[in-house]
Amino acid sequence: MMSAVLYGAKDVRIEERSMPALRPDHVLLRVNRAGICGSDVHYFTHGYCAAFVPTRPFILGHELVATVTAVGEGVHQPAIGTRVVANPARACGFCDYCRAGRGNLCPKTIMLGSASTNPPTDGAFAEFLTVHASQCHLVPVEMSDGQAAMIEPLAVALHAVKRAGSVSAKRVLVAGAGPIGLLVAMTARAFGATPVVVSDLEPRRRETALRLWADAVLDPASATAPDQVRELAGEGFDVAFEASGAPRALRQLLDWVRPGGSVVQIGTLGVEDIPLPANQVMVREIQLLGSFRYANVFGEAIRLAASRRLNVDPLVSRVLPLSQASEALSLAAAKQDVLKVQVQIGE
Ligand SMILES: [Zn+2]
Ligand SMILES: [Zn+2]
Repeated sequence: MMSAVLYGAKDVRIEERSMPALRPDHVLLRVNRAGICGSDVHYFTHGYCAAFVPTRPFILGHELVATVTAVGEGVHQPAIGTRVVANPARACGFCDYCRAGRGNLCPKTIMLGSASTNPPTDGAFAEFLTVHASQCHLVPVEMSDGQAAMIEPLAVALHAVKRAGSVSAKRVLVAGAGPIGLLVAMTARAFGATPVVVSDLEPRRRETALRLWADAVLDPASATAPDQVRELAGEGFDVAFEASGAPRALRQLLDWVRPGGSVVQIGTLGVEDIPLPANQVMVREIQLLGSFRYANVFGEAIRLAASRRLNVDPLVSRVLPLSQASEALSLAAAKQDVLKVQVQIGE
């Protein structure tokens, strides 16, 4: 099979690899399309992603839609020929976290296209891969491959919004107008948040946010930003989502939420410690919440994306063939003019 293998920083090679072996309870998937995630861009740019350093070359990609082409012993569902999205994170299913519905905290999680395990786990920038049957979710016929490959990042956004509790009629700020930030803004809006404000340093990204869904946008570097916050949200936002991965943005959000408000950290901030105003967190009773991947939201993400409440189509900027995986990753890394870049693999 054809695959795109990461050898190091800016070094992705198109290679023939042998087909993955099909084990019991697993299914063989032929990948239709796979999206490029911020983490794929990190691996491509640096050769590693925060604390995850690959110990051998591996295949990136975890945002996939695929067709079931063979099923292992013991698999009743999904059937051969069905189109599915795969939850790329497979937790153990037995530990306390898994049993409490928080499989994203399971220490035994195996993630497709990731060096979080040693050796790294191959991902979806290949013609075929295998997953456990329980990782598959059926895709409605009317949903396009482009939309279906957005389900994984939408699940990230959905989990983050749920971490904040109900956002109905809450004033929400999202820092970072990349694909995840915009998906968080769209989800918060679909759940009734108002206003939904998006901040980003890039004027073009602010324009996009405004054109698509945001009620207002702000430039976090502008001297008038604090006045804008007062105008839009009085004493501050009820909930702020940090989706830019910039330490400065996190610091700012702690000032821009109201007393009793919540800050949800979604962006990857690197491995360095960051000084924070802990006394302010105490005196103003701010909830600082982490949000990591997702747990049990794929079905909901599929229903949301299939509904008319939320349209992911405008986020898909470019689609390139697998043979141009390296170009696709460079394009996604350039960021200015693109949101989501996807790789087309099967028909
Ligand atoms: Zn992702
Ligand atoms: Zn577990």
